[in-house]
Amino acid sequence: MKNIETLVRKNILNLKPYTSARDIYQDGIFLDANENSFGSFIESDIVDLNRYPDPHQKELRKALSELINISSDKFFFGVGSDEIIDLSIRIFCEPGKSNVIIPTPTYGMYQVACAINDVEVKSVKLDDSFDLDLEKTLNAIDSNTKMIFLCSPNNPTGNLLSIERIKSLAKSFEGIIFLDEAYIDFAEEYSFINQISDFNNVIISRTFSKAWGLAGVRCGYCIADEVIVNLLFKVKAPYTINKLTSNAIRKAIQISERKNLFVKNIIEERKKLIIELSKLNFVKKIFPSAANFLLVEMSNAKFVFDYLNDKKIRVRLRSDDERLKDCLRITIGTPEENDLLIKALMELN
Ligand SMILES: *Cc1c(COP(=O)(O)O)cnc(C)c1O
Repeated sequence: MKNIETLVRKNILNLKPYTSARDIYQDGIFLDANENSFGSFIESDIVDLNRYPDPHQKELRKALSELINISSDKFFFGVGSDEIIDLSIRIFCEPGKSNVIIPTPTYGMYQVACAINDVEVKSVKLDDSFDLDLEKTLNAIDSNTKMIFLCSPNNPTGNLLSIERIKSLAKSFEGIIFLDEAYIDFAEEYSFINQISDFNNVIISRTFSKAWGLAGVRCGYCIADEVIVNLLFKVKAPYTINKLTSNAIRKAIQISERKNLFVKNIIEERKKLIIELSKLNFVKKIFPSAANFLLVEMSNAKFVFDYLNDKKIRVRLRSDDERLKDCLRITIGTPEENDLLIKALMELN
C-alpha cells in the first residue's frame, strides 16, 4: 500500500474545503441556504426541487454499493467521468511541474484535461496488440510523474489491457493509476474491481453514458480507496449531482437487468457486424473488441468516411496514431442502423 497523502498537492492537502449549508444540517426548517422556501418552479415527481441536493451523494452511493457489493465509502459520483478525470488531475498534479503518462492511442480527454491544468503529458505507445507496454511505461516514469492514465477496454482500439500488467504497474509505480473502465459492462469479468482492495493507488472510473444508455444524464463514478474518495469530495463543487440525475440513476440501478439486456443485444449486433464487414474487399482488419464499437482498418478510410458522411452515416476517423491512420471507429447501432451501414458499404464494395 502507498502513502497517498504524500502524493497530494500541498495546497489541496492544506485546503479548507467549502462548507455548504447541507454539509452541516440535513433536516429541520431550512432558512440557511437562501433557497426559495415557497417551492419549486416546475412540476416534477421529484420532491423539493427548490432545495439543494445532498452534497454527500448518500442515496446514490448506497444504491450502487448494494448493486456491486463494494463499501459505499469507496464511491464518488461525478458529472460524467470527465469530471472525475479533471478532479483527479487537480488533486495530484502540480501545474507547470508534474507530468502524467498516457499510453496511446487512447481516449483524447486525458490529454485535454492535462493541458487545461497545465500538466505535461508523456505519451508512450501501447504495444503491437494495443496492450500495456510495461517496459516503455516504466521507463517513462520520472520523479515528477504523478499519474498514469489507462483505459480498459481501450477507446478507440476496443481491446482490454492485461490485468497482470496493470497490477504489476500499480505495484511498481508510486503515483496514481487512473483506470478508465467506461466500457467494462461489455466485458465485466475483466474488471479490475476485484483487485481494488489490494491497490490503494488505483482509481477505477466508470460511467452511465455507455452501456447504461444514460449519456444525456451526465453521470459517472469512481471506485477508489477512501483516502482518495475523501479528497475528491474535498475539491468538488458542493452540489454537482443534482436531484434529477440522482433520481434517474437510482431508478436505473433498480432495473439494472435492462442494462444487461442492452449489453447482450449490443454484443450480438457486434458479432453480426464483424461477419458482414469482413465480407468487404476494402476492409483489411477488424480489431478484436470488448466494447460497443469496432475499430476497422480499411484500404482507404478517409474515402469511406466521406462516402458514409454523404449518406449521413457518421463514424469516427481516428488518425491521432500512426497505426490508426486508415482506421474507422464504428459504434454498434440498432439492427436497423447496422443494416443501413452494411448496405451502404456493400454498394461501395
Ligand atoms: C465516453 C467515454 C468517457 C466519457 O464518460 P462520461 O461519463 O460521459 O463523461 C470516459 N472515458 C472513455 C474512455 C470514454 O470513451
